[in-house]
Amino acid sequence: MPGGVNSPVRAFKSVGGQPIFMDSVKGSHMWDIDGNEYIDYVGSWGPAIIGHADDEVLEALAETMKKGTSFGSPCLLESVLAEMVISAVPSIEMVRFVNSGTEACMGVLRLARTFTGREKIIKFEGCYHGHADPFLVKAGSGVATLGLPDSPGVPKATTSGTLTAPYNDIAAVESLFNSNEGEIAAIILEPAVGNSGFITPKPDFLEAIRRLTKENGALLIFDEVMTGFRLSYGGAQEYFGITPDLTTLGKVIGGGLPVGAYGGRREIMEMVAPAGPMYQAGTLSGNPLAMTAGIQTLKRLKAPGTYEYLDRITRELVQGILNAGKKTGHAICGGHIRGMFGFFFTEGPVHNFDDAKKSDAAKFVRFYQGMLREGVYFAPSQFEAGFTSLAHSPEDIQKTVAAAENVLSKI
Ligand code: PMP
Repeated sequence: MPGGVNSPVRAFKSVGGQPIFMDSVKGSHMWDIDGNEYIDYVGSWGPAIIGHADDEVLEALAETMKKGTSFGSPCLLESVLAEMVISAVPSIEMVRFVNSGTEACMGVLRLARTFTGREKIIKFEGCYHGHADPFLVKAGSGVATLGLPDSPGVPKATTSGTLTAPYNDIAAVESLFNSNEGEIAAIILEPAVGNSGFITPKPDFLEAIRRLTKENGALLIFDEVMTGFRLSYGGAQEYFGITPDLTTLGKVIGGGLPVGAYGGRREIMEMVAPAGPMYQAGTLSGNPLAMTAGIQTLKRLKAPGTYEYLDRITRELVQGILNAGKKTGHAICGGHIRGMFGFFFTEGPVHNFDDAKKSDAAKFVRFYQGMLREGVYFAPSQFEAGFTSLAHSPEDIQKTVAAAENVLSKI
């Protein structure tokens, strides 16, 4: 396997040392193949929001499995999850399930181009929308972690329609609309960024983007692969009160199995085959196992108090780390929304990817390795957000903060 892994950031390249091979996960904890235990803040990169290997999810999966693992024909579980997604996410009137966030973003881009008859898109520096060619421009996440420019093998023709602007910079977006009048199909963005580390939109940013897309006949796409069902049950769009035209989802809606989805206004979604002319398909799309894990996960999230709990423990975690950093004399800033968080080794504020890059990378490595020795597993890159879950206990948080204080006093 190239680099020993099947997805680049797992290889620990930016933090040094060997990647850790995990043997099992449960709740908020993971155990590696040498028997070491970790408190986990990666959560399989987002899906594990109710905790790993949840008993009810496992039981439901076992029941579903008795009937088979894939039908390749419609099944009722797809309708159940579709209904849950449609009633939860404000912008989604129709939905198509796929197998990953990458696929969801590929599909939604083709759809936006189909609907508008335009080819150009605007994306933001440091936002990641999966590894399809048109998005591998200033793509944050693993691309940034590995210090890759933009990937070789991406033909210029596939990215020539991809325009970029710094996150939180309205003037840059206005100027792109002015210089490409009538040509921009859509703006795609992470409504809160997780792929440059954790960055929140400035108060008026999303509103201005919504206004500008409307004025220019372009669609607004929220890539909620990370934020969907994480910032609130209705995603970032519910949390911020801004309704996009189209939305992509992934991670949480698959409850730890491979799923993605895209959805939006009916008149747009009806362009997707076989209702309409835009082709997109998938052998395992909507398979019963993934649908089952998604349904059980969303059921749990819908219970009262879940997002309040995520908010409380994540605030305690981030505040604890920031206080420990300040007490031990480090420049540090950070924040959270509900169960998503991040921090940088710089005074901040961090509003975009260039700000994020000011974080002290060498210090992050020392911090990372120290925390690992203390039994705390953060994402092995400072350009990734962290995730908490309903299974994280106040004791997990206290232990993590104490470990952080210990590590920060030594680095
Ligand atoms: N969009 C966003 C916002 C993501 O964070 C990710 C993955 N981290 C993707 C798309 C791609 O999803 P996947 O890895 O499932 O292809």
